[in-house]
Amino acid sequence: MAIIIQKFGGTSVADADKIKQAARRVIKATKKGYQVVVVASARGKQTDQLIADAHELNPNPPERELDQLLSTGEQQTVSLFAMALEAMGYKAISFTGAQIRMVTDSVHTKARIISIDSKRIHKELDEGKIVLVAGYQGIDKNGNVTTLGRGGSDTSAMALATALKAEECEIYTDVDGIYTTDPRLFGDAAKMERISYDEMLELSSLGANVMHTRAVEFGKKYDVKIHVRNSLKEDKGTIVTHEVPRMEDVVVSGATLQKELAKVDLINVDNKPGNAAKVFSHLAKAKVIINDIVQTEVSTEKANLSFTVDAAELKAAKETVEKIKDEVNCQNIFIRDDIAEVSVVGVGMRTHYGVADKLFSALAEAKVNIDSITTSEIRISCIVDKGQSKKALRAVCRAFELDKPAEQRKQTS
Ligand code: ASP
Ligand code: MG
Repeated sequence: MAIIIQKFGGTSVADADKIKQAARRVIKATKKGYQVVVVASARGKQTDQLIADAHELNPNPPERELDQLLSTGEQQTVSLFAMALEAMGYKAISFTGAQIRMVTDSVHTKARIISIDSKRIHKELDEGKIVLVAGYQGIDKNGNVTTLGRGGSDTSAMALATALKAEECEIYTDVDGIYTTDPRLFGDAAKMERISYDEMLELSSLGANVMHTRAVEFGKKYDVKIHVRNSLKEDKGTIVTHEVPRMEDVVVSGATLQKELAKVDLINVDNKPGNAAKVFSHLAKAKVIINDIVQTEVSTEKANLSFTVDAAELKAAKETVEKIKDEVNCQNIFIRDDIAEVSVVGVGMRTHYGVADKLFSALAEAKVNIDSITTSEIRISCIVDKGQSKKALRAVCRAFELDKPAEQRKQTS
């Protein structure tokens, strides 16, 4: 029998009615002949509430205890969900991450999954039960509860999809699918029918906030089909899948705006072997996650080294570079937190020219100054002033016709 994973986000299980609605979805899939494994998030804003509760008692809560606390949000959802299914006449059983031995490393609040014991789940499924697993959590080898980082239930779902060799992983949410850009910033954004793992990875690490980045990594690595859809509608959402040739016809599939961003410039560091390594090994030790890095040689003796981080990481990044400033003979540290990043993403960039030209022209016409530019094979990002960033995003969306379905766009040069 084929297995399907259905993951319900916080808004899709926010109250009793929503849980019942989600339960009907699950039943529908069982009637189609699937064995169903449900992964659920904490209800509504419960995780935020638990974090606030913790901080009320301790401004610096021990991370082990924080994980222990945060994991209870998901645990409540899955047992309530199981009760709802039982009330509708279906056999269901819920598990915490620890109970199904979702083993992770020991990095509290952002743990990574190492292995899952799928035996128990298969046994329950084979007995005709619907299995519910609390998302966002695991257990380390010493028996401590861990969590996978905010939004981590997607990753739980995809890890289970992989371990159970599921046919598909459905991600139920409160939007209709994945849009070319955030519809709250550009009202005419179009819903995508399909998107490749690579594009989705770029978009989610650029803060598109639809799916947890690591969940997409699982999908790509093990080629698990993902279907992001609205829990309140029957309509098809967006399929995230491996690349098909037709996808390359579309040069730009999506655009993002990342506002919670900061940039650190190390001006005039010594231009000699080992300096960049020094800077970034210290940042790694401080567990700072770096977004983009740019180094430019300014003379044979000196170079400028810049990087961007999420605003939340700035404090740690700043402390680290201040500590090693002298070691790399850095003349000056320049920090900006009033910046934002506008990016365009598309696998078609690999094979088409003129994307950069169109992007920069759109920004120029909108009178937006570009502070710096970084690129990957399928992405171009521009740092701009935060105050101009919404205008910049809209100009870019218009230029690449992100208000139209992919087949109607005339993006190619
Ligand atoms: N409940 C967790 C959060 O709010 C995990 C998740 O929803 O995926 O971040
Ligand atoms: Mg989410």
